[in-house]
Amino acid sequence: METEKLRNIVADFMTDSEVELRERFEIWIDKRMRSHKLVVYHDVHQILREIIPDLIASVRTGGYERILVHLKGFIEKSGFEHVEAGLRAFRSILVNEMSKCVQDIDTRHRIIELIYRDFDIMLDGVSKLNARMHAQRLEQEIMERTEELVETKDLYRGLVENSPIGVCLLQEGKIKFANDELARIGRYKKEDLLGMEYHRFLTPESLEEHREGIERRQHGLNGALTYKAKALRKDGSTVEVEIHSVPTTFKGGPATQALVRDITQEKRIEQLRQSFFSNVSHELKTPLTTISGNIKFLVSGKMGELNPSQEQALEAASEETDKLDRLVDTILELASLDSESFMLHLSSVNMTRIIKEAVNSKALQAEQKSLRLEMNLQDNLSPIIGDETRISTLMRNLVDNAVKFTPEGGTVRIKGIEDPDNVIVEVSDTGIGIAEEEQSRIFDRFYQVDSSSTRMYGGAGLGLSICKEIVDLHGGRIEVESDVGKGSTFRVLLPKERGSR
Ligand code: ADP
Repeated sequence: METEKLRNIVADFMTDSEVELRERFEIWIDKRMRSHKLVVYHDVHQILREIIPDLIASVRTGGYERILVHLKGFIEKSGFEHVEAGLRAFRSILVNEMSKCVQDIDTRHRIIELIYRDFDIMLDGVSKLNARMHAQRLEQEIMERTEELVETKDLYRGLVENSPIGVCLLQEGKIKFANDELARIGRYKKEDLLGMEYHRFLTPESLEEHREGIERRQHGLNGALTYKAKALRKDGSTVEVEIHSVPTTFKGGPATQALVRDITQEKRIEQLRQSFFSNVSHELKTPLTTISGNIKFLVSGKMGELNPSQEQALEAASEETDKLDRLVDTILELASLDSESFMLHLSSVNMTRIIKEAVNSKALQAEQKSLRLEMNLQDNLSPIIGDETRISTLMRNLVDNAVKFTPEGGTVRIKGIEDPDNVIVEVSDTGIGIAEEEQSRIFDRFYQVDSSSTRMYGGAGLGLSICKEIVDLHGGRIEVESDVGKGSTFRVLLPKERGSR
């Protein structure tokens, strides 16, 4: 009786429920696919262990609905990916239970056969769906990525094509890509540039000047390389450019990306600026010398006795013309350092003498402010190879600042020592000090920590920028240590026996 009942149950399950089961699976699966909410539940066995008693009861009593409910719950919990595993587990439970319940071996075999056939169909369906879903997901992902790639490519292409800077890609000495601006700079058609030898883009002189760097670059060597050159246009005229090139790879081989900037305008402005500075300065210098000379002559009394208030007024005028004269000198110095024809006049510079001269030139001013001016120079301080006038300017500027920014009664110390490579000069003061955040900026042109200091202390924020430039030109280093309210130390390191430029 029991056997008969089970046979009916199983037969029923295998026929009527097969279609239904599959249909329901597909509906759930579809739904889950659409919602994309595939909950990954790893502990499949745990779920099955929980539902085994119900499954057995369902098989025994023919309550398939409960099995379906369990399967649905299982799919929802464990996610679509685990349906196959679930079905396999479910199949082995069924087979086990059938084996225990059905005594007749033939019947048992037939039922097991039916179970396997039916589950094979379901598993096949599920695995096909699985594969289809996987393929769809992949396809979707590829579509999305491709769209992103196309968008990014368009974006970069637009940026490069419309860039106001010439852009090109070079490989094996040839131009493989060029944008509109590069074509404009060279007065070529873009098509003419493609495949053209890169060396045709530069004048022979520029090519010669930068040959080594360019060749190394062609072999994918060197880091970034920036140089100014003359580009040779298609019509034979030339144009000043700045080229910044970086190594890259293109189609698996070493290549170079080059950014080419037309600097004609910049150069013109720079030349104008330089000639403006030197012209204006010279135009000021000549009348200033006359004014200053005449005032001094008047003060000397050689042109007649002066009453005290006349003398006071003329002395004030003399001080101001001296200041103006110094400012003009500073501007002239800057213009000269900036000029392309600038050269250091190198010789052996006696540092002891230069330091002493700088200190002595400020002795009177220091005395007027009641400052202690201390000098501590190592015996036989090594000479350096440098431009004496510039080194003198450097030392004078530092001592001048120390005296200027130290209140009455303070101390200014100048120390001269050396290490194996450098002569080291330290100018320390007990002055107003410089806040840490300002220390890197004081070497910039026209920078003053407190702009009202121009009125209070004089100066135009140029002294330290000149110092830095001089030190750099000599291959040295300038550093500052300072505490607000306590004082500052400027340290200059100049290489012994070595010059530059
Ligand atoms: P300036 O002609 O104004 O002195 P500098 O370039 O020589 O120009 O210095 C730039 C600024 O750095 C100064 O305006 C001042 O604020 C600060 N500075 C330079 N030297 C000292 C110093 N010894 N003590 C304090 N502040 C200093």
